[in-house]
Amino acid sequence: MTLNDGQKAASASKPLSSSSSSPLEPVAPSQELATLLPQVVQMVQAFVEEGEKPGSNVTAWQSIPQLRQNVSLDLPDYGSVKDGDKKLLDSIQLVLENSVNPWTGRFLDKLYSANTPVGVCADLILSVLNANAHVMSASPMLSLAEEKCVEGLCEMFGFNDTPDGLTMPGGSSANTLAVQTALANIFPPFREQGLLGISELLFEKYGRVGKAARPLIFTSDQSHYSLDKAAISAGLGLSSVIKVPCDHTGRMDPAALSRLINDSISEGLGTPFFVNATSGSTVLGSFDDLRSISAIARRHGCWLHVDGSWGGPIIFSPTRAHSSLMDGSELADSITINPHKLLNVPLQCSFLLVRRGKALSANTLDAGYLFHSKDARENAAMKTMGCGRRGDALKFWLYWVRFGKEGLGKHVDAGLRLANDVVEAIRDEPRLELGPLAEPLFLQVCFRPKPPRDHKGVEPPSVEVRSKATRYVHNVLKERRRFAVDFAPLPGGIGDFIRLVVHPRTKREDLEELIEEVASIGEEFWERSEESF
Ligand SMILES: *Cc1c(COP(=O)(O)O)cnc(C)c1O
Repeated sequence: MTLNDGQKAASASKPLSSSSSSPLEPVAPSQELATLLPQVVQMVQAFVEEGEKPGSNVTAWQSIPQLRQNVSLDLPDYGSVKDGDKKLLDSIQLVLENSVNPWTGRFLDKLYSANTPVGVCADLILSVLNANAHVMSASPMLSLAEEKCVEGLCEMFGFNDTPDGLTMPGGSSANTLAVQTALANIFPPFREQGLLGISELLFEKYGRVGKAARPLIFTSDQSHYSLDKAAISAGLGLSSVIKVPCDHTGRMDPAALSRLINDSISEGLGTPFFVNATSGSTVLGSFDDLRSISAIARRHGCWLHVDGSWGGPIIFSPTRAHSSLMDGSELADSITINPHKLLNVPLQCSFLLVRRGKALSANTLDAGYLFHSKDARENAAMKTMGCGRRGDALKFWLYWVRFGKEGLGKHVDAGLRLANDVVEAIRDEPRLELGPLAEPLFLQVCFRPKPPRDHKGVEPPSVEVRSKATRYVHNVLKERRRFAVDFAPLPGGIGDFIRLVVHPRTKREDLEELIEEVASIGEEFWERSEESF
């Protein structure tokens, strides 16, 4: 199949015209790519370089309304092919110029950050293959990469009894599939009869008392909202989700879990079937105690799911004190992990792993037109509610090839060291106060301006005023465009804090600058607020 050099040279120089009558193919694609790609690569390179400049901004605009005024994305009736590439390239440039530039390293707003050059290349490969990972015959290498990554992750989490898994388009989808899979496995009539079948089953078991026939999900009040959405989409509804309180570090209180489960049974509120533990919560970054939660789930015959969308990659850490936060993962029935967050794999790349792979067969329908192979491994789409799938695992596989387990682990550790330093720096800054932190610390640091000791306003300032200071700082930072950070109300009614996500590749000097910015903008707020009193 390989061309010899002579043939290669000949095919590269020969002008190729297209015989297609579709306007989508004005010339042979290889020829169009030969002119477009180098120009786009140059623009992409310039975008990344611009981001890397020390003086760069995260966005070109100060607010979304301003962005709306600055740009217009029109939808023309007639295309621009005949006029050459300018219109297309200008449009690409418009997108690049007005997008958030993650390559600044100062987009610290969300749980994901800049991709890597490997990721950019991986996306290009995915695009040129344009293969649907629903069946292996269409996407042979992408499916093998998925199989391999699932195996590798399952091994790390201690799943060793015929586990299985697949990529999902995000942690929320993975969590939703976990709920559906659990429903069908814990309550076999679900697949054929739906919730009505479950009701009949439970009425037979418990009699027609109260709401005992309602399947219940237990998850912490700090867990991700996707668990609530999963309950909506599974037909259970929001009142089927029981929120378990957390301690001040954001960890689920196992004693409260046990009590709430027992109460729900004794009061006839429903039938517990699903317990979700969070590894790396969205706001504070705390890890639930998997062993104690697993013991409780097991005692009540519940499916144990671990939402490691954010914190799951800590399993790669070579430092025992870090990776041990996932101890007990081997006891879970399913785990979600998002390499597209902490591991910087391009969006989207998320996995659902299942300890006993057979459980996924609850989602299978036999589509005769699609699933021709008897080997279940060749029919990835059988495991989900979806059909067409992007081969997202390829990106993670290429990261694994490039950096190894060791590199990914050291990446996580680098982030944890940096987060520790940031906390120390904020502690040393009298103009700032730290919010509650995960214990042990993960990658989120919540902090806000502290009113000066001699503050002349109402003393001490109320939670509302302190939250106002946070939002003031957040706004000014946004206008200055150097940093993107988020803010969040913290549990316990203590008001809003700046939530900084420390990414492993964030530069130390950028974090120092940010801390100084928050402190000085805060100072300005308190001075102004004194004037208004
Ligand atoms: C981000 C996150 C999710 C959702 O993942 P998506 O990929 O954004 O759908 C779920 N759980 C936790 C804990 C998260 O941090």
